[in-house]
Amino acid sequence: MAYKDEKLNEEKVFKDPVHRYVHVRDRVIWDLIGTREFQRLRRIKQLGTTYLTFHGAEHSRFSHSLGVYEIVRRILVNFEDRPTWNREERLLCLCAGLLHDLGHGPFSHTFEKVFKLDHEEFTRAIILGDTQVNQILTRVGKEFPQKVADVINKTYHDKLVVSLISSQIDADRMDYLQRDAYFTGVSYGHFDMERILRVMRPLEDQVVIKESGMHAVEDYIMSRYQMYWQVYFHPVTRSADVILTKILHRVKELYHEGYTFRVQPVPFISFFEEDVSLSDYIHLDEGVVLYYFQMWEEEADPILRDLADRFVNRRLFKYTEFNPNLQMKDWMELYQLFRDVDLDPEYYLVVDSSSDLPYDFYRPGEEEERLPIHLLMPNQELKELSRQSDIVEGISGKKRTDHKLYFPRDAIEQLADDRPEKEKIKRILYR
Ligand code: ZN
Repeated sequence: MAYKDEKLNEEKVFKDPVHRYVHVRDRVIWDLIGTREFQRLRRIKQLGTTYLTFHGAEHSRFSHSLGVYEIVRRILVNFEDRPTWNREERLLCLCAGLLHDLGHGPFSHTFEKVFKLDHEEFTRAIILGDTQVNQILTRVGKEFPQKVADVINKTYHDKLVVSLISSQIDADRMDYLQRDAYFTGVSYGHFDMERILRVMRPLEDQVVIKESGMHAVEDYIMSRYQMYWQVYFHPVTRSADVILTKILHRVKELYHEGYTFRVQPVPFISFFEEDVSLSDYIHLDEGVVLYYFQMWEEEADPILRDLADRFVNRRLFKYTEFNPNLQMKDWMELYQLFRDVDLDPEYYLVVDSSSDLPYDFYRPGEEEERLPIHLLMPNQELKELSRQSDIVEGISGKKRTDHKLYFPRDAIEQLADDRPEKEKIKRILYR
């Protein structure tokens, strides 16, 4: 039997708190899960620094990736007897679902910004490069690794396949919303996925939703909206991200200045040099990063030492509402005051902005084109979701941005009371 068709003698199941069970019958999927590149995802948290706000959020990208695979598998079971579905692509969809986040590194988004990396590029590199994952995919077929990479990259010719993994209602989002809600313990983020899976239909190059399932989809869109503002953009998590970013900036700066570290940060050097090989990238996981943060608590450089201590022991920055468009004068005044009291404003006075678009209809040519969700009406016509749902119309196309100014309140409180700057800083920051 061809490798791609091989089944395990006995089905393997993973116990999963969100989907109850993840079922594996295909030999290829089982083999991929066993690779070192996939196992590495156990050592990368799904929500980065969110565990410093919601202590339950310690779940890994490994569990999310298995979850996405499982949702894709369930969608495909429902599609199996539909003439519009090309069954040949089943294994491709399963592999793309399983491997879609393979290139995420430790505290992904922060690392990407500081070291100018792109996790999607690393996902492609792991799938196409000299890796165990690539060996397995190549056994399926010579072209197969490229196909999997194309689906994840959204360039695969069959857009129906792409939309299962990335669209406004896809297996990726359906998993992370429920999983992140479960592990953070918030009451948002839950929706009736079973119902949505039952009303999904393959139609030409997209997945459409039977009109009778509209309310389940409304619930899903609202849960995404709530999760963004209640969990993903939580101001305390952003404080931890700000500190993480500043630690990385500081070590990078010290490295380039020729500073002598107490313990050479060997796994970071190619990141500082911005010349990161695939093997360097794969070796840096969150265990390694947190080890160095603890080492840096003992460094001679006071800024690095303080920031590392803040991160490890959760002494986060406080924040205040801040509008960078209206409060530039305050900003400049604070910047100077911070310098006067020896708090380097480059590290201790940080504006962070977050924004999200909860749902959008199609606007061709825009920076980030989003495929709309289509309802299949009883008369077989297609209708864009926000034209039928008042709730979705209410939030669609509306981008909300939130700006906050972060600062170490404890350090300001510790300034001597007779310093005139202390009162001035407090007057601007605490009003
Ligand atoms: Zn994902």
